[in-house]
Parts: sequence; structure tokens; C-alpha cells
Amino acid sequence: MELFAVPELPEIREGDDLAAMIADRVDLRPDDVVCVASTVVSKAEGRAADLEDFPAAPRAKEIARNLEDISGEEKDPRFAQAVLEESTDVVMEAPFILTETRFGHVGVNAGIDRSNVPEHDLLLLPKRPGESAERIHESLPESPPVIVSDTSGRSFRHGQRAVAIGWAGMPASRDWRGETDRDGHELQVTVESVVDELAGAANLVSGEGDDGTPVVIVRDWEFGDHGGSDNMFREMRGDFVRQALRDWEYE
Ligand code: GDP
Ligand code: MN
Ligand code: MN
Ligand code: MN
Repeated sequence: MELFAVPELPEIREGDDLAAMIADRVDLRPDDVVCVASTVVSKAEGRAADLEDFPAAPRAKEIARNLEDISGEEKDPRFAQAVLEESTDVVMEAPFILTETRFGHVGVNAGIDRSNVPEHDLLLLPKRPGESAERIHESLPESPPVIVSDTSGRSFRHGQRAVAIGWAGMPASRDWRGETDRDGHELQVTVESVVDELAGAANLVSGEGDDGTPVVIVRDWEFGDHGGSDNMFREMRGDFVRQALRDWEYE
């Protein structure tokens, strides 16, 4: 397989037609996978915002005050308000705000970005990244699969990497269950999250800084002859780590 960045994309503005901009720069094939950083999807969808758009309610003030006490740094309660408004559930409120977004992704600060956002304070994640991916997928010539990604931290490990927050035109996972390993043992549990793996690979090329390469094409990769599934975001029931966090408090 091969990965390459779509060249010469400009600064993305609200209303821009990302699919047309990609199609102008690459001859797409139907079996390419088009990986798009959520940052530019958000910009095109007008998801840049300012702190003054989020007057803080008491709950946000309480969270910000608590974070300030812990870190000794000033925390803007309007930022906490923005995070709460993007979220359906607060998983942890200190020493950082970890929430479930309205579309099911759990992330620090609800994925709200403060980098690569000219002229505004904040960039919210796309409202429904799955629908964003679907629109781009349907608008691109040859209708290749599309993954919308975001860089995010992980539990248990240092460092960030990209994960898929929306996808279309392919299943999220490749199901190996029922297939055999080299000893003929039947695989019982392996459902491989290929959209996350592809998003991670694309992020190696797109970079995190001023590279200006938010769209990466994966070429000559094959899903292969496997079952697929679109399960990605765990339900609370069955998510034992999250259940263990329910009564946890930062001290
Ligand atoms: P995120 O992981 O979705 O939060 O996106 P990042 O902020 O890490 O940006 C990913 C890549 O997109 C980096 O190479 C950025 O320089 C690039 N990027 C961000 N915004 C724009 C834009 O408006 N236009 C272009 N051409 N590149 C951008
Ligand atoms: Mn960013
Ligand atoms: Mn981001
Ligand atoms: Mn990134």
C-alpha cells in the first residue's frame, strides 16, 4: 500500500466544498481510502467558534474552578461550557475534562481544538462526522471510502495518534472471528478496527503542525475477504473501564 498527501490545499473556509477541492488535485480510484483530518471538515462546516459564544453556567464555572485549583493555572469557564455543550456525558472532570460527544466519541475537551484555527478561539468537532464522511464519499468521483479522523490521546499510554470519528463507504472493522490462525485455532474475539488503523497511518503523513496536508490518500490497501462491522463507540453497559470511572474522584 501507499499513502500520499493531497497537495496544495489552501486554508479551508466555511462553505468550502472539500470533495471538489480533493477531486481537483487527485485522480481518485474507487479502492482508494480518503482520510480527512476533522479540522478541515469542521472549518468547512463552520464549526469555528469563540469563547464569548459560551457564557458559563454554574456547572462550567465549578469545573473550571476545580481545574484551576489543581493546576494553579487560570482556566476559562467558557471553555468548560463549550465542552459541556458538545457533550452528553462527563466521564472525568479533573485533572482534565473527558466527555462523550453527542456522536459517541469519548475524548478530552470533547475534541475541541485550539490549534490551527485562524481568527477564532476554538474549533469544535464536526457535529455528525459520520454524515460528513458520507457526504464527501458521495460527492467524490469514483465514490471511494472516506474516513474523518481526529488526533487524540489514549488511556494507559503516552502520546497521541489519530482515530476515526466518522467513516463512509467501508465498514469500521474487519471481523476475523471464525477464521483460523496458523495452528488452525479458530479466532474468537478479534475485530480489527481498520478505520482507526488507516487514520493512524494517514496521520503519519498529514502531521500535526503547519504542514498543511489534512487529506491523505491510502492507495492499494485491501479490506480483503472478511466480515465487517460498524461498531465503534462502546455502550456504557459492557464498557467496564468506564463503569469503573463512574465513582472515581481526583484527589
Ligand atoms: P486534527 O488532527 O483533525 O485536529 O487536525 P490537525 O490540527 O492536527 O491538522 C492536521 C493537518 O492539517 C496538519 O498538516 C495541518 O497543518 C493541516 N491543516 C489544518 N487546517 C488546514 C487548512 O485549513 N488547510 C490546509 N491546507 N491544511 C490544514
Ligand atoms: Mn488540531
Ligand atoms: Mn483535533
Ligand atoms: Mn492532528
